[in-house]
Amino acid sequence: MLELQSVGKSFTAKENVVQALDDISFRVAEGEVLGIVGKSGAGKSTLLRLLSLHERPDSGSIQMLDESVDNNLSQAKARELIQQTAVVFQGFSLLYNCSVIDNVALPLKLRGVDRDTRLEKAKQLLSFVGLQDKADSYPITLSGGEAQRVSIARALISDPKIIFLDEPTSALDSKTMQEILDLLKKVHRSYRLTMVIVSHQIDVIRYMCDRAVLLEQGRLKKIGAVNALSHFQ
Ligand code: ADP
Ligand code: ADP
Repeated sequence: MLELQSVGKSFTAKENVVQALDDISFRVAEGEVLGIVGKSGAGKSTLLRLLSLHERPDSGSIQMLDESVDNNLSQAKARELIQQTAVVFQGFSLLYNCSVIDNVALPLKLRGVDRDTRLEKAKQLLSFVGLQDKADSYPITLSGGEAQRVSIARALISDPKIIFLDEPTSALDSKTMQEILDLLKKVHRSYRLTMVIVSHQIDVIRYMCDRAVLLEQGRLKKIGAVNALSHFQ
């Protein structure tokens, strides 16, 4: 499904080279929920940007859905792969001048799906996330938890095989966080997709994931079952 071999990525800032990721190798199985944990600056976001194909590694290789992701990957092929994935961000990234239902339907609009079809599917997904009554509201009127439900519905609308979640509950209070985690569990049960969750909240990873990767200063410190997570800190 997803495999990294000796992946490295560095950045140059003011003549200093930062090795954001160094020699990272692991595999994600189909249908798995994998966590990525580590302190701030450990390389979690960089790893997620590589996995979600928003950036390319400097070294090593990534296999995604039976394709090799490298600098030879054509734009068209990359787009095809990206279209089989979706990303949910901490900050929701909703469009504030569009209604809730139009936000959910947007990925289908960008793919040229006709309006009736995309709105019908968006409506179904809004019910799935428990927001059928908010279809015509605007994002500014939503609570943080509701906004995250909308972004989860939007992520699902293109039937992705893999969902990447970047700190999906960090902006939420603990009760809302629990509701969103339960929704994500329902997503996984209903859609059987592969999930990769980045979080600095160890409880979130423990609740959601089968296995987790611990990053420390750009290196893979540990990988294993989450019930061994007490050893992770
Ligand atoms: P985390 O998500 O675990 O906090 P990041 O992946 O954001 O870690 O960052 C890992 C390291 O790479 C940090 O030292 C960070 O400053 C550096 N880094 C990340 N992105 C960039 C960038 N675009 N330019 C320069 N340095 C970066
Ligand atoms: P992703 O597809 O990586 O999950 P987002 O969740 O940010 O991207 O957005 C969902 C869809 O909305 C994407 O297809 C993206 O291209 C599109 N999109 C995001 N921001 C804008 C914008 N400001 N204007 C038009 N389309 C946007």
